[in-house]
Amino acid sequence: MAKGTIGVTTENIFPVIKKFLYSDHEIFIRELVANAVDATQKLNTIANSGEFKGELGDLTIRIDLDPKEGTLKITDRGIGMTAEEVDKYINQIAFSSAGEFLEKYKDQAAGIIGYFGLGFYSAFMVSKKVTIDTLSWKEGSKAVRWECEGDPEYTMSDSDKQDRGTTITLHLDDDSKEFAQDHKISELLHKYCKFMPVLIALGKKKEWKDGKYVDTDEDNIINSIKPLWTLMPTELKDEDYMEFYRELYPMQDDPLFYIHLNVDYPFNLTGILYFPKIKNQIDVVRNKIQLFCNQMFVTDSVENIVPEFMTLLHGVIDSPDIPLNVSRSYLQSDANVKKISGYITRKVADRLEEISKNNKEEFESKWDNLKLFIEYGMITDEKFNERALNFALFKNTDGKYFNYEDYRKAIATEQTNKDGKVVYLYATDAEKQYQYIETAKNKGYDVLLFDSPLDSHFVSMLEQKLENSTFARVDADSIDKLIAKSDVEKYEISEEEQKRLDSLFEEILPKENKYRVSVENLGDTAQPVLITQTEFMRRYRDMAALGGGLNFYGELPETYNIVINAENPLIKRIMGEKGTEAFTADNVLLKQVTDLALLANNMLKGKELSEFIKRSSELL
Ligand code: ADP
Repeated sequence: MAKGTIGVTTENIFPVIKKFLYSDHEIFIRELVANAVDATQKLNTIANSGEFKGELGDLTIRIDLDPKEGTLKITDRGIGMTAEEVDKYINQIAFSSAGEFLEKYKDQAAGIIGYFGLGFYSAFMVSKKVTIDTLSWKEGSKAVRWECEGDPEYTMSDSDKQDRGTTITLHLDDDSKEFAQDHKISELLHKYCKFMPVLIALGKKKEWKDGKYVDTDEDNIINSIKPLWTLMPTELKDEDYMEFYRELYPMQDDPLFYIHLNVDYPFNLTGILYFPKIKNQIDVVRNKIQLFCNQMFVTDSVENIVPEFMTLLHGVIDSPDIPLNVSRSYLQSDANVKKISGYITRKVADRLEEISKNNKEEFESKWDNLKLFIEYGMITDEKFNERALNFALFKNTDGKYFNYEDYRKAIATEQTNKDGKVVYLYATDAEKQYQYIETAKNKGYDVLLFDSPLDSHFVSMLEQKLENSTFARVDADSIDKLIAKSDVEKYEISEEEQKRLDSLFEEILPKENKYRVSVENLGDTAQPVLITQTEFMRRYRDMAALGGGLNFYGELPETYNIVINAENPLIKRIMGEKGTEAFTADNVLLKQVTDLALLANNMLKGKELSEFIKRSSELL
């Protein structure tokens, strides 16, 4: 038997391993199984090259638990290690100033472990003692046993292992005994090892016999070694992709579309991305893309690897070219990651454009569930925006869909204002804004439906992107002002009269809001009194509600414009000869037309509403 001290420069790395890597204890299983997978694949390589001439035999990696003893064993039939190799790979950990480093990066323990060859030593996060029994594939090798009890001293001796490969035995810490429980390890293998490329068996399949579960002869295989993304797209059918999706996300609705990613130059990446149905809850569906490195699960938080809006997608990405061991902030500036991120964005845009061109009907039918994703992408990602302008759709209040170009052509003649700008009218609520929508349609205009939570940002973005365009909500002003064809004749009013009107309406309107009153010539068919909220104010309030540094606007009281239409016959009657002086708080007709305007905006409530009803029947 030989004794020695593990060669690290710090005194003792074990307290460091236990203390600093605390939050990620469970990843030891991934590290050890990954080593077993590596050892098996290396043997395959050596066999293929002809160097290894023996029988490969069954290469399944086996995990055996003994809850009574509190042990967990991982056995592979890979290349194994000679005594020299154990000494070289296990004893000499080239690891300087471990403590200092881990202190700095303790939040990213999972990445660091692999990077610094601490993979194997992660076993000590959960074990008081670890044993390695290993027999190298090399002819004439002797089996070796290595033992260590979580301090820098280890022992090496002969092992009675007969079979080629390595068995790692963990004698679990008292507070880590859960890792000898079948359900716990099963859960962890499912999380970390589900798609590893060598068969992994957790004990045997069980069957119900004579009142209890007993082992069968059949291995309980927990992984699929050829997951869908590693296969050729040409070999696969739509149904295969849908089935794989259900396997990944058993509780979700079927996705709208998928993309199979497959590139090997200038970087290596495979994967399948799915477009889930997104209604209005952006946050609920996040963090669903799983990142793999050669079929080994790494993480399901990919924010720094794909553009922000892509995190709304589901699926898997597998790439050995994403550096996993650097800090998160560094990731974003990494050249490879930038390329990868750009590639994925391009592919997603390609796919959407392709469907929108080749399968217009399908694209339209799915648009409502896709829209939030695309709008989010267009607002936050310049590159995606450029592409999406070609395939994004508008939906109007009649439920018809148009691409941007067609829509512009359709409205340009009617909806160009006197300054030569095309005015896009939109509504955010087809019910509440019904009256305004109808008024616009009667003029021969079209009204879009913008009813998603991002639309206030979206509208501002579109105004910058679409040349010579402005967007106006149908109820932001009288329709003739929203699309002003010529300068409307102004209604002249003195400053004194204006003041009187302002204070008069403060008196007769609900108290919680602010009003600005004006008298205008809107034509004899337009409403007598119109209540509008300026596009500018409303948009900023909406944006403030979404967050994003505009809180100032959110705190202002709601401001409305009260427009009195001097050309409306009713108003003409009220004003008579005397002009605006006829407006007084006790003028029943004035009160009535004002309430009607409030009612149209859903602003007439409670006592005011019942008074209005009473007054209406009296007037009738
Ligand atoms: P890494 O896997 O990152 O190199 P580890 O600490 O996990 O670091 O392992 C160190 C080395 O020990 C491996 O590179 C490999 O040579 C050897 N090793 C670990 N586990 C096994 C195994 N199951 N079979 C054969 N060799 C192994």
